[in-house]
Amino acid sequence: MKVIKTINKFSSVRNSLINQKIGFIPTMGALHLGHLSLIRKSINDSHITVVSIFLNPTQFDNKNDLNNYPNSLNQDLKKLKTSGVDIVLLPNFSDIFPDDYNFQIHENNLSKKYCGSLRNGHFNGVLTIVMKLFNIVQPNIAYFGMKDFQQLTLIKKMIHAFFIPIEIVACETIREKDGLAMSSRNLNLTANERKLAPLLYKTINSTLSLSEMKRKLINFGFKLDYLEIHGKQLLVTAYLGKVRLIDNVQLKKLDHAA
Ligand code: AMP
Repeated sequence: MKVIKTINKFSSVRNSLINQKIGFIPTMGALHLGHLSLIRKSINDSHITVVSIFLNPTQFDNKNDLNNYPNSLNQDLKKLKTSGVDIVLLPNFSDIFPDDYNFQIHENNLSKKYCGSLRNGHFNGVLTIVMKLFNIVQPNIAYFGMKDFQQLTLIKKMIHAFFIPIEIVACETIREKDGLAMSSRNLNLTANERKLAPLLYKTINSTLSLSEMKRKLINFGFKLDYLEIHGKQLLVTAYLGKVRLIDNVQLKKLDHAA
């Protein structure tokens, strides 16, 4: 496994990969089985699998959230090596933002809703870093988790809008045995919060009405950011203490009463 820290070095390796199908998984590290499921798919589909680890500050609207984001680079690298990843890209901020983030991708519709309405500039940060990484890595195929449904949808729309010749593969959400969607941020839950956390999925995966779901979640101790229907999905973001949990399910009943 090659671990590459500069874009220059990566580009010279990339130029040597002719007629190879390149699969790509962008991550922010603190890797878990959710990330590894995307990686497994890429290894199955492609000749070369590239994973990036970059904790992107431009998508954080809250300094505490960024500072408390778990970091486990050495363990991450061991997991990637064991999984059979070919190349890991570990860029630094100045290398990837030579413009100091003066150039940005803005989307003016979906990115303003749900997570975007509460996290100022979040999706500008996400779309800009993904576009940069796509231009650097030049993959044929890239893998994103359905856990971050709004992010996945926006990336598909960006690819379409800018005629980017990359196939986007949506990967199902990997959950703990008790139903909690795996997430790097779960490491920051206290023992008591960890016990309550699966109630988020259990509740949104029920056939209750939206107002009943909201009432239940608030009673359990969640602080709801939003619980809303988007197309055929039910999207939720809620805080347990200081940890933001995000999840979504396909609607069971299309007639969920408000
Ligand atoms: P992150 O490191 O949180 O930016 O996530 C990197 C990629 O892994 C994104 O495409 C996420 O949607 C995906 N991902 C994160 N958690 C899960 C999960 N539990 N199941 C499937 N994919 C996930």
